[in-house]
Amino acid sequence: MQFNELNLSKEILLATEELGFSETTEIQQESIPLLMEGRDVVGRSNTGTGKTAAFGIPAVESINDENKRAVTVLILCPTRELAMQACEEIKKFAKYKKIVKTSAVYGGASMERQIMELKRGANIVIGTPGRVMDHIRRRTLKLDRLKTVILDEADEMLNMGFREDIESILSDVPEERQTVLFSATMPPEILAITEKYQHDPVNVKIKSSQKTVELIDQYYFMCAMGRKTDALKLLLAAYSPESAMVFCNTKKMVDELTEELAKSGIQAAGLHGDMKQAQRTQVMNSFKAKITSVLVATDVAARGIDVSGIDAVFNYDLPQDNEYYIHRIGRTGRAGRAGTAYTLITSRRQQYDLKDIARYTKAKITELPLPDKQDIINIKKDALIREITEMPKASSDIYDILDRLAENGIDYREAAARLVNSRLEKEIAALPEFDMPKPLKKGHKKGAKTVKIDLSIGRSKKIAPNFILGALVDATGMSGQDFGKIDIYDNHTTVEVPEAEYDYIIDSTNPMKINGHKVDVKLYKGDSSEKPRRRNDGHNFGAKKGKPDRRKAAYGNRKKTDIFGDYIPDRKKRTKKRH
Ligand code: ADP
Ligand code: MG
Repeated sequence: MQFNELNLSKEILLATEELGFSETTEIQQESIPLLMEGRDVVGRSNTGTGKTAAFGIPAVESINDENKRAVTVLILCPTRELAMQACEEIKKFAKYKKIVKTSAVYGGASMERQIMELKRGANIVIGTPGRVMDHIRRRTLKLDRLKTVILDEADEMLNMGFREDIESILSDVPEERQTVLFSATMPPEILAITEKYQHDPVNVKIKSSQKTVELIDQYYFMCAMGRKTDALKLLLAAYSPESAMVFCNTKKMVDELTEELAKSGIQAAGLHGDMKQAQRTQVMNSFKAKITSVLVATDVAARGIDVSGIDAVFNYDLPQDNEYYIHRIGRTGRAGRAGTAYTLITSRRQQYDLKDIARYTKAKITELPLPDKQDIINIKKDALIREITEMPKASSDIYDILDRLAENGIDYREAAARLVNSRLEKEIAALPEFDMPKPLKKGHKKGAKTVKIDLSIGRSKKIAPNFILGALVDATGMSGQDFGKIDIYDNHTTVEVPEAEYDYIIDSTNPMKINGHKVDVKLYKGDSSEKPRRRNDGHNFGAKKGKPDRRKAAYGNRKKTDIFGDYIPDRKKRTKKRH
């Protein structure tokens, strides 16, 4: 549907046209007429589907000469960023409707400035619940003539502990008002609010909002727990996205990872709730301006943030909730553009969790091998070929230089080779130093050389061989048959492992937890006086059939390129090769 079919004012149509909106999104098509009729609405639609306009346009339309001097619309958002963002977007819709005066009120910013703005006669107020409460208490925000209250990202506001503030605000405003609620999920707490404060609400649920996710290519990589940061650096080097978001589950991880990336010369910045407002604004601005190419964030800090042109989303930590996965990857592929999402997986368990996410989102999440240094060099070579192919033709005085070089015995071919070589060398020097250790694909034959590893947990912790084996399989992704004899002592355990896998196993298992105990894993030096309490000879090295090399399929001889100008694995070819 077109915006001009929606019975909107000339002023709004002009503004949406300038913003490049012609077709409405589904949530807009359904909600705008209902909201303009004055109905209470519960809206559910995924991130990036244009909810701000869905409630913002009716909000702007509701301001008229009679109510322009009072706060008529109050919009509550979970974070300062979202309040600022919604305010900016609504200002754009109101560009040609001069009587609309918006004001954003949120914590961490000057109270005085906000009071001034409110005094100047704001009629649409957008704010976070805490600060809105502050202003109500100080009587700097009067809601006695309020017509509409809108809760944006209601579930997130509850998650952040704003329930009391929200209820207090909702019971404070006039009875005869319109109550509108948007939420990605509908937990019982939201239903309770709906029941208590809404009047005969219409449910608007957009089913096909999965669409945004369908446009996003989704991949995952298996990597050892202790090598996640290295894996991320490799991926960033391989894809060199102009703009990427990396998600972590904790604020601490955001800080640590940001620092690690910065140390490797990657333009990264962190964003989480503990940071000062000024700092957060600065981080967002530099990310929007593409000065910072990698934004590392927690789910809450990034909720609803709308930055266009994000090429890729990386799930450094697997999200704790299926909905979070959709929200995270919805940062890329916005407004119908293609995007890519990558997830790091460190154990079998996580692999199952990801399968669950894929089922839930009805998405296809394909496993790819991590690129190694040679893969990345190949990618850089391909990129250089493309770059030179697209360069403008050189002018004739440049050929003079080549002629003079030729006189010195350096012919055209040699001259070009030297230039290309110096460029590649520079790029390769900037690559991370490491290669990911990989488990041998071939399986371990009987009689292959073995060593013993030593785990700092033993019988005193009521540990059984199957716990040890399960934990090792989980951490390494190797098969149970790859591990040999397990001897459990009072305070430690030894396990026979293939020597060729020793480095890989140490990398994958530090840190490791078994039954809630932190376990160190190192080389077993041996102590002949010690007798194991328990033996397990059940696991021998079994020979496995070799698998086809997927690395080659994914990174070798690529022709297709993706939005970074890098590779897209040829899926058909890959499947064929697998057989
Ligand atoms: P949500 O709140 O659902 O996550 P937003 O309101 O932040 O989504 O909108 C996401 C992006 O899509 C914004 O950049 C917005 O300007 C843009 N957008 C919204 N509606 C339309 C439309 N009808 N046509 C084109 N772009 C739109
Ligand atoms: Mg939003």
